[in-house]
Parts: sequence; C-alpha cells; structure tokens
Amino acid sequence: MNEPTATHGGRVNVLTTPDVIDTIAGLRATLAEAGERDSGGRPRLVLVPTMGALHAGHLALVRRARELGDIVVVSIFVNPLQFGAGEDLSTYPRTLGEDVAALATVGVDVVFAPTRQVMYPHGPGSTRVTAGNVGTLYEGAARPGHFDGMLTVVCKLINIVGPDVVVFGQKDAQQVFLVEAMLADLDFRPVIEVVPIVREEGGLALSSRNRNLVEEQRAAARALSAGLAAAASVAGRGAAAAEEAARALIDAQPLVKLDYLVVVDPQTFLPVAADHHGPARMLVAALVGSTRLIDNAALDLN
Ligand code: AMP
Repeated sequence: MNEPTATHGGRVNVLTTPDVIDTIAGLRATLAEAGERDSGGRPRLVLVPTMGALHAGHLALVRRARELGDIVVVSIFVNPLQFGAGEDLSTYPRTLGEDVAALATVGVDVVFAPTRQVMYPHGPGSTRVTAGNVGTLYEGAARPGHFDGMLTVVCKLINIVGPDVVVFGQKDAQQVFLVEAMLADLDFRPVIEVVPIVREEGGLALSSRNRNLVEEQRAAARALSAGLAAAASVAGRGAAAAEEAARALIDAQPLVKLDYLVVVDPQTFLPVAADHHGPARMLVAALVGSTRLIDNAALDLN
C-alpha cells in the first residue's frame, strides 16, 4: 500500500500504483484499510471488470472510473463459466505482467486477479444468475450459457468488491443491456457507467481477440465497423436500408463470415419492427478465421 500522494476529484487518493491481490480476504482487507485511511468519509469505490489482455479500450474504462471514484479496482479474471465447450478459454491471452504495467499508467489502486480456485473453490458451483430470453439471442445463441456465466461472475465480483459504480464498455452492447437488467431486477446497489467503444485507426473496435488476427484478416475485419458506419448513414431510410448497407460491405469481404446482423430496440433488445422509428442499435458478429468479433453502433431510425 502506498502513501497518499495523488488527488482525484478533490479527495486524497490513498493508493497510487496498483496492489495486485489474488484472494478475496486480501482484497477486502486492503479496501477496508484504504477506507480507514481516507479522511473524507467513505471513499467512492469503482469496479472495472475485465478478462485482462488489456488494450486502450480497457484503459478508457479505467480513466472514466478514475474520474468517478476515489478507489479504482480492476478485476482480471478469465471466467470459465462464460466459455462454452470448444471456445477459446485455454488460449484466451493471459498477460498479467503487461496488464499491471498498463494499469499503473492510468492510476489504478487495486488489481484483483484471483485464480480459478479462489473464484470457484469447489468447482463452478450450482447457482447461476440467468439472463432470461435476451440472454439466448445473438451472442447468447452462438454461445449458449455465456451470459448466465457472465452475469454470475459479475454478481460475484460485485459481492466481493462492494463497489458504488461498475464500469462496462459499449463494445459489448448485449452484455451492458443484461448487466443493467440484472442490477435493476435484483436491486443491486451499484450504478453502471457505460463507456463508448474505442476503435483503432480504420475503425476496427479494439478487442483482446484482435491479437489473433494476421494483417490480412485485420484489414478484412474493418468491414464490420465500415458496415455499421454505412448503416448509420442511411438509417433515416429505415432498418431494412440500414441492414442492406451494412451487409453489402461485409459480404464483400470473403475473409469475414457474418454470424448475425440485427437492428434492436435499445429498450427491449429485441429486433425492431420494419416500421420502427427512433433510436435503435445495430449489432454485428462475424468470424474472421477462427476469431469471433463483435461490434455495434447506434442508429437513428427516423
Ligand atoms: P473483456 O476483457 O473483453 O471482458 O472486456 C472488459 C470490459 O472492457 C468490458 O466492459 C468491455 O465491453 C470493455 N471493452 C472491451 N473492448 C472495448 C473497446 N474497444 N471499447 C470500449 N470498451 C471495451
């Protein structure tokens, strides 16, 4: 634990470079100690859940967290519950040393990096938070059980850390919708903060999985964001025109195998009717080689 040196939002930040903690008891002790050392009353705690292999998208979440709170906790845990059989759990990039170094540059207080044994000491356990109908659509259709596993670990992390705010990226739009629903439906205390998608030059949304792409695939993958941009530019003509514009660009790329392209109502996350007007969101998922990529964009269907 470091001595107080930095200020954020007018309060003394009691921690400066990340403490890397891998046990629940250790995390709670550290946070309790930090709370006692903060003279301004109960510090505002912000949690940023991640699976590591951090990039500038994750760091944008952390920067936002830093603005919102006094103590920023970043969790790094590749959650086996949200990976299906045959998915990339064993090959998902694990780069803890580099992640901690990156987090040190943006002022994170605590990195919570538990082992699987710490999170699931008796195996996966039988209790699940279930995502319901929307959890079976789109990403949930391609990855059965993914969202139940995701919500279950988010629930555990909230119980472990006890944050006031949880920060998520708009990149995973369906995840955001389902976490918002869980927080509301189960009367969780934290509020959610959603950070816009961070893209590389050329439009590709940053993703830990992009490191699996060779240059030719990376170039082809730009069709996803280009398709979304084309859709947004014709959204005034309706959902069908938007879909057609996106599909034309994506289908032109033989290396990109489209899984789904759908326009949803942000209120329900269900596909919009053909005559839908107002705000909507286009979701896209595709395989580029064996790498699954997702992206999304807001559409104004007026
Ligand atoms: P992950 O490590 O992939 O589970 O992502 C952790 C968090 O970072 C999630 O809330 C993601 O939505 C968010 N995230 C990942 N990539 C991006 C991005 N390119 N822009 C904004 N947020 C992102």
